[in-house]
Amino acid sequence: MTNGLELEVSKRRTFAIISHPDAGKTTLTEKLLLFGGAIRLAGTVKGRKANKHATSDWMEIEKQRGISVTSSVMQFDYEGHRVNILDTPGHQDFSEDTYRTLTAADSAVMLIDSAKGVEAQTKKLFQVCRMRGIPIFTFINKLDREGRNPFELLEELENLLGIRSYPMNWPIGSGKQFCGVYDRQKTQVELFQGDDHKQITVRKVEGYTDPLVQEIAGNFFYDQLAQDLELLDVAGDPFDMEKVLSGELTPVFFGSAINNFGVQTFLENFLQLAPSPEPRNSSQGKIEPLDNNFSGYVFKIQANMNPAHRDRIAFLRIVSGKFERGMTVKHVREGKNIKLAQPQQFLAQDRDIVEDAFPGDIIGLFDPGIFRIGDSLSQKGDIVFEELPTFSPELFCKVSVKNALKYKQYQKGIDQLTEEGMIQLFTTIGFEDTIIGVVGQLQFEVFEYRMKNEYGVDVQLHRTNFQFARWITGDKVDPAKFRINSQLVKDKKGNFVALFENEYAMRTAMEKMPDAKFLETAP
Ligand code: GDP
Repeated sequence: MTNGLELEVSKRRTFAIISHPDAGKTTLTEKLLLFGGAIRLAGTVKGRKANKHATSDWMEIEKQRGISVTSSVMQFDYEGHRVNILDTPGHQDFSEDTYRTLTAADSAVMLIDSAKGVEAQTKKLFQVCRMRGIPIFTFINKLDREGRNPFELLEELENLLGIRSYPMNWPIGSGKQFCGVYDRQKTQVELFQGDDHKQITVRKVEGYTDPLVQEIAGNFFYDQLAQDLELLDVAGDPFDMEKVLSGELTPVFFGSAINNFGVQTFLENFLQLAPSPEPRNSSQGKIEPLDNNFSGYVFKIQANMNPAHRDRIAFLRIVSGKFERGMTVKHVREGKNIKLAQPQQFLAQDRDIVEDAFPGDIIGLFDPGIFRIGDSLSQKGDIVFEELPTFSPELFCKVSVKNALKYKQYQKGIDQLTEEGMIQLFTTIGFEDTIIGVVGQLQFEVFEYRMKNEYGVDVQLHRTNFQFARWITGDKVDPAKFRINSQLVKDKKGNFVALFENEYAMRTAMEKMPDAKFLETAP
């Protein structure tokens, strides 16, 4: 039994792709699925964007806007590995779910457009990965276009993100003349050839000074290539696996997702280097994946995936043991045993019933309203996994009920949606006004929609100018210090939180309270 579990765990890689919209995440995901032999899914990822109205049975709001409200999970097999890709929605549908999804990943792939470098959303998502200390692999995309100098891009990783890098390979030529990469680890030249460039011609060499490299790359590219590689050897960071695993050093790959340049090389290296499912901290210490008793935690709840029913799907990351359909486990917070009868696994939009699953896998549990984000399920003992962090919202609305007679339903809706993690709730001091905070605009719309559809309440939202929230600890908190372009509120647990309209107001408050800590996540 343990051996079987060990094998399943060692096979698995669970990761998220982090990027800014348009960097090529959909394209890369699709190519990865294709390499995984999931031909059936070839158009699925694309279809999700182009053909939303036909395929989506998700929320009405999603149909109206043609975007995906929440992220899904894709799974494929490749050369003895089982790969789980967690999709992190971008753009307008960016939400706290995106952050939480990252807590279910064991590593991240950071995708960067070679012409644009590190962009805003990449930076935000990177910071969450950094906080968790997970390994980050970088794929610099769109090398088939004129992009920025590779050295400049690496410098940007260091300056904007504070992460050192180790280029695993280096482009030969760029733009229209991009024809391959030099693999520094394996000392080989990889040329992308054939119709769909799936055919990689690999030529083993002695090093980049090998005359064969010159012959393959041609004189024109060779001088630049040799010069760059020499500089990397002399001035670049050495490869250090420990630093990769702790997220201090990112292995960098160059390629072009749409042309399939470098995708397979990337995938193979990634699968070698990325960690298998990692343990998670809990009230009972670290829970190891090889622990025979099944355990896991809910990191996301998706409402109304099927509008015909009011059902919700709770996404569970398996931490330890084997999951078997129909098994009975303890819902630790409720102190009750529950039977997991209809678990689902997610392949793009298709949902299949799963019979068994292992650490690193994500399963969807039918949720008649019994789960909250962060809930732990455990086969043995009252394991409570470490609480998921609450991330600092960036958009804030004052909220009130339109019809005072509906106050009770309004309160119930707000309480439940806050508990579910759909919004963050704050109360002003004195007037007890309600302010809700989110990280993406769409969350407001979904909130409004669900209040009306699930609780029958029309709400009024008044956008405020606040942009930052900081949890304040470590000093006596005086509301009088937060009057100009700022406001002191309390979160649902009674912690003090200061909201600021701009960085200047935040800095001023910090100067006034030198002994206080201003935290970006809830204490
Ligand atoms: P997402 O928003 O990150 O999911 O990005 P998409 O995968 O939808 O790609 C955005 C755009 O970039 C699309 O028009 C793609 O065809 C294009 N694209 C993706 N990869 C490449 C690439 O390697 N080279 C070029 N030139 N375009 C690419």
